[in-house]
Amino acid sequence: MPHVAVIPKPNSPVELREVPTPELEQNSALFGVELSEVCGTDVYLQKGLLQGVPYPLVPGHVSVGRLSTIRGKLFDVEGREFREGDRVTFLDVHRTCNACWYCLVAKATTRCPQRKVYGITYGLDDGLCGGWAEQVYLKPDTRVIRLDGDPELFMAGGCALPTALHAVERGEVAIGDTVLVLGSGPVGINTVILALMRGALRVLCIGAPAHRLEAAAQAGASDVLNFEEHNESERLEWVRDRTSGRGADVTIEATGAPDAVVQAMRFTRDAGCVVIVGQYTDHGPVSFETAFNPHLDLNKKHLDVRGCWGSDFSHFYRGVQIVSDPIKSKPWASLRSKLSRYKLTQSNDALADVAEGRVLKALIELK
Ligand SMILES: [Zn+2]
Ligand SMILES: [Zn+2]
Repeated sequence: MPHVAVIPKPNSPVELREVPTPELEQNSALFGVELSEVCGTDVYLQKGLLQGVPYPLVPGHVSVGRLSTIRGKLFDVEGREFREGDRVTFLDVHRTCNACWYCLVAKATTRCPQRKVYGITYGLDDGLCGGWAEQVYLKPDTRVIRLDGDPELFMAGGCALPTALHAVERGEVAIGDTVLVLGSGPVGINTVILALMRGALRVLCIGAPAHRLEAAAQAGASDVLNFEEHNESERLEWVRDRTSGRGADVTIEATGAPDAVVQAMRFTRDAGCVVIVGQYTDHGPVSFETAFNPHLDLNKKHLDVRGCWGSDFSHFYRGVQIVSDPIKSKPWASLRSKLSRYKLTQSNDALADVAEGRVLKALIELK
């Protein structure tokens, strides 16, 4: 009987429960969890801020562990068969249909209405489907990826890694660009690393608090600014001072603050590109004070503004390859030392620390 951590309903503390080991369908597996991430999405889940979530729910959408039992056969994307004992991770998105209008015509699988997400839109009634647990049930057709590299290095990137990879791809960061990242949480910091990897000349980062800005600088940001100590016009001036008065070539918003979306446009040069990745949950409209002006802030600037929702297998797969590479993974090594570990019984502490920004990245450790 595996132990799991459950959010019973919105705004309730996490409870520990014991649930029966499921009967395995053909071509499925049980996954013994080693580490599972605690991220901002889990805080929103606990507060009931995500739509379409079936409570009670076992959180934890990005995890590493070992295949403890396999029924039938499981293969990776390269056709190699998995064996029991292999260390793996898996794409949290399941059941993208490849049959609907979004999948086939728009080629935007992250908008597929059939998709389900382990730890987010699969609830406890769907089985052992979250990583804050001793075991996860990998249903048939779950996309499993072999993890040959250091599991902690992979978790130092965590779910922010494929998200950030998708964001720099959407931003089409080019060699020699000056990229501005708004936000210094896990997505912001991973974006700094990946924008440089894509060829940015330098990356500027505006965020808070100080310990996260330090992490952004360690990750490669050439200059950082604490937004809590500077108003919007001071921030704009700071960006212009570093971009010959023009603004950033590409700005990636990873904050969760609606006003930052408009600021991202203002901090970007004319004919530049803006990617919005930090509004994964509904934080409401832009404030009245921000006074978004469609002519001045968007049209006259000839901006390309793009939303970036979720990530797909390609982002997850490429992320795993990068953090498994001895040289390319180096920027994540400094983040590994900043991981905070919690036992399953400490899930509420982990959530509180993430909610308050006291830790950079929290992990539930099952050992
Ligand atoms: Zn579909
Ligand atoms: Zn996450």
